[in-house]
Amino acid sequence: MRSETEPSATSPSVDELRALQLAKLRAGLTHVLATNAFWRDRLHGVSGWDDFERLPLTSKPELLADQAAHPPFGTNLTFPVDRYTRLHQTSGSSGDQPLRWLDTADSWEWWTRIWAEHVYGAAGVTDADRVFFAFSFGPFIGFWSAFGGAERLGALCISGGAMTSEQRVRNMLDLGATVLLCTPTYALRLADVAREIGVNVSAASIRTTIHAGEPGASIPATRAAIEAAYSAVSFDHTGMTELGPTGYSCSARDGVHLIESEFIFEVADDGELIATNLGRWGMPLFRYRTGDRVEVTREPCACGSPFLKVVGGIRGRVDDMFTVRGVNLYPSQVEDIVRRFPEVTEFVIEHRRERRMDEVTLVLESSRGSFATERLEADLRQALGVRLECRVVAPGTLPKTEFKASRVRRVST
Ligand SMILES: [Zn+2]
Repeated sequence: MRSETEPSATSPSVDELRALQLAKLRAGLTHVLATNAFWRDRLHGVSGWDDFERLPLTSKPELLADQAAHPPFGTNLTFPVDRYTRLHQTSGSSGDQPLRWLDTADSWEWWTRIWAEHVYGAAGVTDADRVFFAFSFGPFIGFWSAFGGAERLGALCISGGAMTSEQRVRNMLDLGATVLLCTPTYALRLADVAREIGVNVSAASIRTTIHAGEPGASIPATRAAIEAAYSAVSFDHTGMTELGPTGYSCSARDGVHLIESEFIFEVADDGELIATNLGRWGMPLFRYRTGDRVEVTREPCACGSPFLKVVGGIRGRVDDMFTVRGVNLYPSQVEDIVRRFPEVTEFVIEHRRERRMDEVTLVLESSRGSFATERLEADLRQALGVRLECRVVAPGTLPKTEFKASRVRRVST
């Protein structure tokens, strides 16, 4: 369907985007169908959009099972292994076995180009910037592609790997970094560490922060907390090891745009985002279930982007949803209230099932050591419509991570 309002002269229409997607899909499929054992059977006979919509959905457990049956890389390989130049893996944060992912030089070029063109483009990052990556560069793909994208842009790229949080704060300031990349939770953690050591990050040269791994930079209270701590403007980025870089914060900062010139996106009836990448042909994914719950709109956006927009960013993982008194909630809804209390430094949603009842407790740490929970509990009840009991624990009790923070802890009794 064509949208009611025409996008700007330089933006492709929905029909033009669809034609571009199909042209890329057809071109890539030629190789994939000839040599990729994983996809050969599944994709047989795809020629147009109608065929495409009849293809089965693919899920992470299928990919894990394929790698387990055909170690170490599985059968989703379009080329002989010696054609690939990079190996990464998923973080394993959901408790799964990490999934390995190979990229060819062309596939990696695709990743870094999308970062440079879209993610950094929307955030206004240029070759004049000094970009600091507060991240340990291990096998998890994390910010590797972001690093490559900034390098491609001609920015000065500074790795913050193998450093303590204090060293990262000092490095960032000493080197005059203007852009910070890390998870939203870790940005707040770094700001806390800076405060503890008497360093003022809000007076530093950081003017832009870009976040991934968690939905925080699209959660109003979390974004406000990060922006206040750094006196910076914060942007969100969505992506997955297995798929690539799927979205970026709208430059009008109103949700996340999905990069439809490089992916085909669909939304299932239950709101799950389904994605097909159109440029990572060495190890491609067709109709992949992302596990992310979204609400999308085609309404024209103030920023002029022709791309589909995820309203309010990704709400959360389907796996992270929990239920209190019959009300389904995502951690991001809780986070939006909790982050309005700057003295709360860490939190976890503890979910227990007792006598067939869901019992949920918000466990939190406060920078002051003590914290009166009445106001937070009242705000949570008002915003969510259910009562969440809060429990304060001593500082240092909850795990701290620079990777994706795990906000829901399931406790079986
Ligand atoms: Zn926009």
